[in-house]
Amino acid sequence: MTRSKSLRGLGSKYGGTLRKRYTKVFRTLKAKKECPSCSNMRLKRVASGIWKCASCGYTVAGGAYDVSPAKAQQR
Ligand SMILES: [Zn+2]
Repeated sequence: MTRSKSLRGLGSKYGGTLRKRYTKVFRTLKAKKECPSCSNMRLKRVASGIWKCASCGYTVAGGAYDVSPAKAQQR
């Protein structure tokens, strides 16, 4: 069983299933997103489901943890 060392926050609590889900969300959250407007990789989540580009100020509604809700819903 391999575990990423950079992943912190939950430790061994809450059981394996939730931790697995948390890992996926955490990775998605930390991954760089491409701005649909200017193609810069500077899209940031300002609130749950709201993404804003740090480069051009473009704001887009998306998933809670990813810009594309369809992608986030794939399990
Ligand atoms: Zn942009």
